[in-house]
Amino acid sequence: MAPAEAPVTAVQAAAYTVPTDSPEADGTFSWDSTTLVLVQAAAGGKKGLGWTYAPAAAVGLVEELLGPAVQGVDALDVPAAAAAMARTVRNPGSTGLASYAVSAVDCALWDLKARLLDLPLHKLLGAVRDKVAVYGSGGFTTYTATQLRDQLEGWAHGQHIPRVKIKIGQDNGANVPRDLERIRQARAAVGPGVELFVDANGAYTAKQAVRVMREAAAENVTWFEEPVSSDHLAGLREVRDAVDADVAAGEYGTGLPYFQRMCAAGAVDCLQADVSRCGGISEWLRIAAVAAAHGLEVSGHCAPHLSTAVAAATPNFRHLEWFHDHVRIENLFLDGTLDPEGGSLQLGGGPGNGLALRAAEADKYRVL
Ligand SMILES: [Mg+2]
Repeated sequence: MAPAEAPVTAVQAAAYTVPTDSPEADGTFSWDSTTLVLVQAAAGGKKGLGWTYAPAAAVGLVEELLGPAVQGVDALDVPAAAAAMARTVRNPGSTGLASYAVSAVDCALWDLKARLLDLPLHKLLGAVRDKVAVYGSGGFTTYTATQLRDQLEGWAHGQHIPRVKIKIGQDNGANVPRDLERIRQARAAVGPGVELFVDANGAYTAKQAVRVMREAAAENVTWFEEPVSSDHLAGLREVRDAVDADVAAGEYGTGLPYFQRMCAAGAVDCLQADVSRCGGISEWLRIAAVAAAHGLEVSGHCAPHLSTAVAAATPNFRHLEWFHDHVRIENLFLDGTLDPEGGSLQLGGGPGNGLALRAAEADKYRVL
């Protein structure tokens, strides 16, 4: 019997840092570890699970501000909790890290509500599909030719995922010959029948980005992510108008007005949003509506297992990023993770997000 109401009784946060399995870099950043900030929210004898990939400082935001803001709010009224969190981060700033922390709590609350009602989360949200398309994502600029080939072949031919993405824009766009060589290597690895995506992480200038696509024309790249900085909406538009590939951006977006501006500027062919950054499931649904009003689809950025339910519930959804680092961590920390065989994730029938924390395994990496 579902409860008539269930006040939130506790919100806990913890941070875990997991070393990468190899040095990693994209066009504008390099890293050797990833930190996951996990939130567990409790009500009515159930616990909901959410997370974000963010500095451990996000734990402090949850403990000092967000947890107290949602304590006592009815867990069945997630929008009330989202409104309480929006009020509490007004003065410290609602964008950036605060939004990442809000996202983790919001996702935990949606999972909690689904568990209280004993429903799969995608059913609580109302699904439009029971399978979510994914693309394999990695292809770091630090990889050797062999590492690149092995990773791409694993997705394209091992797991039969018909879309893959690699990083380009090495050294802030200063190594275009190697970018072009790696695009050719990627196409050779996956063959002609797999979609090839590239992500420059804002490394190029607009004209440089157009020239790269012209020189790579034979490799049929169909997705060009952040050819220039996602803050340069006019530059994105300039590239979009000049290349055949779809231009995409939005992964750093926090708050609805960010996405409204990006859509209204005609900056992208497909809007990206990250449910672990943008404000959680509550805000994702509004972002997707903004995108729809501009005739755009939404692609999910990273955190794949946090994204599947809301992706299934989004009518104008295109695909979800099956990101190497996050797949690895989520498979390590969670029971109930999904299999991308054939290029899509089949949503399960269990309550909530269908995931359970492997606490003993996660604790080996706990930093806060
Ligand atoms: Mg990206």
